[in-house]
Amino acid sequence: MFVCEKCGNTNSRYIGYINNKPYCRLCLSFNGKSASFHYINPNSDLKEELSYELSEEQENIATGVKEAFANHKNSLIHAVCGAGKTELVYRTIAYALSFGLQVGFTIPRKDVVIELEERIKSAFPSNSVTSVYGGHTSNLEADIILLTCHQLYRYEHYFDLLIIDETDAFPYQGNEILHTYFNKSLKGNFIMMSATPLPSMIKEVRDTGGKFFELKTRYHGHPLIVPKVIVSPFFRDILISKKLKQFLNDNKQCFIFEPTIDKAEILFNKLKIFYKQGAVVHSKKSNREEIISAFKKGEYRYLITTSILERGVTVKNLQVIVDDASSPIYDEKTLIQIAGRVGRKIDAWDGEVIFFCDKENDEIRSALEKIKEANTYVKNM
Ligand SMILES: [Zn+2]
Repeated sequence: MFVCEKCGNTNSRYIGYINNKPYCRLCLSFNGKSASFHYINPNSDLKEELSYELSEEQENIATGVKEAFANHKNSLIHAVCGAGKTELVYRTIAYALSFGLQVGFTIPRKDVVIELEERIKSAFPSNSVTSVYGGHTSNLEADIILLTCHQLYRYEHYFDLLIIDETDAFPYQGNEILHTYFNKSLKGNFIMMSATPLPSMIKEVRDTGGKFFELKTRYHGHPLIVPKVIVSPFFRDILISKKLKQFLNDNKQCFIFEPTIDKAEILFNKLKIFYKQGAVVHSKKSNREEIISAFKKGEYRYLITTSILERGVTVKNLQVIVDDASSPIYDEKTLIQIAGRVGRKIDAWDGEVIFFCDKENDEIRSALEKIKEANTYVKNM
């Protein structure tokens, strides 16, 4: 069987014969000059040179993608239209260039390549940039090569970092030959970007052990509530009381977590003087199921609890206060679970989580980090 060396075609429909010698008709039009080796000066200052503003969500993805690349992993960025996808990969581009690695950025459509050129040039003023597309192929080599997918065939085993945007778009999608050239031009790792990733794209990234990132908006897939940390070694009871009053006035129910049963009982004895519709629950309360179900029905407006309620309970419009959040009882996972009580309903996705503590310790810090991370990383594949 004839296998085309250039594109891997084996379909006899696209195989012709000249003097009984087979040739591939599928990639016949892909017959231009190949790119030569291009040396890129490593520039370790580059990472610091970049200055552009990213939202916190973008920031997390930009860093995550860079780390994936640094660990020789592919990435798929699922970002909604107009979310500023291109800027998400600048950090990775800078990282690659700082080691003198070859960068390519490919897009199915020529007009997008042209549009991208100015942006990339101004973001990377100390690097050479070239655009390669049909009718514009005189300069094939540069530190950063922007090209249509149709031009990838010129770059065999060439790119240390290859970014591909709009992979779901015509003419790349479903075009086997472009897909083959994409894989052949890749020497290192790729970053795929799409507003609507197809299952085949997800599979491709997953099969290579890559990472999956999603840039969310607050219009769907609302992010987790990031807890507010209030450091106050003294008078926390007063602060808690004030906050509780506010929640009750807003007609919102509240959980107050205490690290121990004793502390839960003590706080309840103080608060119940001012706020009648509350209760305390912990493992020693024999009627705790009744209390919890009464709370769910709205008969209680606040519950003081130990970590027995850290998971499993979903109450609409619930607010959460954690007292003594720096207590060794609370590790990062517990704090994340507790914070996750809030904003669980689609029609009540917002809310407040407040960590009152003596000091912000490592568990609190890493819980906050993980929550922020989870707001951007949908899943690690
Ligand atoms: Zn071929």
